[in-house]
Amino acid sequence: MTQALDHALQHAKNWLSSLDDRPVAALADIETLRHRLDRVLPETGLSPVDVIDELVTLTHEGHLGSAGGRFFAWVIGGSLESALAAEWLVSTWDQNAALSACGPSAAMVENVAGKWILDLLDLPRDASFALTTGCQMAHFTALAAARHAVLEQVGWNVEADGLFDAPRLRVLASRERHGSIERAARFLGLGQRAILPLETDDQGKVTPQGLELALVEAGGHAIVVLNAADLNIGAFDPFEELIPIAHAAGAWVHVDGAFGLFGRASRAKRHLLEGVELADSWATDGHKWLNVPFDCGLAIIQNRAAHKAAMTLTASYIAATDGVRDAIDWNPEWSRRARGFSIYAALRELGRQGVEDLVDRCCDHCRALVVGIGELSGACVVAMPSLNQGLVRFERLTGTPEENDTYTDSIIELINATGEAFFSGTTWKGRRAMRVSVVNWRTSKTDVERAIAAVTKVLSTRFE
Ligand SMILES: *Cc1c(COP(=O)(O)O)cnc(C)c1O
Repeated sequence: MTQALDHALQHAKNWLSSLDDRPVAALADIETLRHRLDRVLPETGLSPVDVIDELVTLTHEGHLGSAGGRFFAWVIGGSLESALAAEWLVSTWDQNAALSACGPSAAMVENVAGKWILDLLDLPRDASFALTTGCQMAHFTALAAARHAVLEQVGWNVEADGLFDAPRLRVLASRERHGSIERAARFLGLGQRAILPLETDDQGKVTPQGLELALVEAGGHAIVVLNAADLNIGAFDPFEELIPIAHAAGAWVHVDGAFGLFGRASRAKRHLLEGVELADSWATDGHKWLNVPFDCGLAIIQNRAAHKAAMTLTASYIAATDGVRDAIDWNPEWSRRARGFSIYAALRELGRQGVEDLVDRCCDHCRALVVGIGELSGACVVAMPSLNQGLVRFERLTGTPEENDTYTDSIIELINATGEAFFSGTTWKGRRAMRVSVVNWRTSKTDVERAIAAVTKVLSTRFE
């Protein structure tokens, strides 16, 4: 009965051992994949083994090598071996982690995983948390708690009465915010236009003056969203300065720390996050820098009562167990994956020192990449990384800024076409740039050298 599992294990091992040698970019384009896969639902089935073998055969050329060490696009993250193996078991055990009654071990492991994270990130130990699908839903969860608390201050019960006649809530968020903040505001019925952008300085940080002005403009009832590393240059807002200003105005402060919050685990980087612990809520990811497989975000909330009020639900058929944490009280989902296991496994594999080492190594590799590429003729550094994100740009001396935008995008494409490394483009301060993001435990010095060599080759052919 387990033959398909044996095949899956073999396919997984083949995939992982191919990562160093196979091209990082996908080999098959979307049309090829459509041709292979898009057919009418078959009338009859296949054996499990054949399903797994067919799935691999039809799709493997359409995968990116993002699990490997030379993938630097977006902010993707790798998978630690223990976390990946734990994920297989999570599917095998198939526990519904909504209630502790449906999976006592899942509930207890999630409890411990949350506690370890608070300890690792040095956030208030009595904060509540939720393990969500990702940072997007962590924002949703934390901002639902914020919505509850801010409206409660003015005597409005949003869970009971909704938002139709409620006082207008404003979300003051950095200009360099991630798009998931907009979406959370939409999901929560606040609307995208409730967002007032906070001005940033030339280093991408929200300024105290900008925050003060926006708080006045919002006229109370505000939620402030700050960045613990924006995705382009890893900029940290000056929390120590900004959070007391927001609190003095009665605002709730939420921090987007999708990957950057893990800087707290590094003694070398911790100073960038001074004062972040003063916030009211934090959102981060397990599936980025902690290197657990996808489907793992974290909402952390100082005001437990607001968090629970925003999420909890009681129904007669729910077997509430006294004194035990039921995820359904803290999460937007009902039935859900037992996400605690992969976090538990990753933290158990690494320990506190291992997480620090992972963070420091990624930052060092990012710097080496940005410096190494920036030194090449035809390349320049746009933003040196303070953490694990940096920007470079490609320019021809005779090119206008617009032409060099196009040139930068074309060089990125050529680099990706070598199969040796994979980067993505971004727009920063109105200009195109190539982002260098290092968030994978697998990235090694050799990977950095191979990536720089690939860029060197592309640029030298362009200049011949
Ligand atoms: C990735 C990211 C998000 C969204 O997180 P998901 O896990 O993809 O939902 C939000 N903010 C920042 C800064 C990010 O890098």
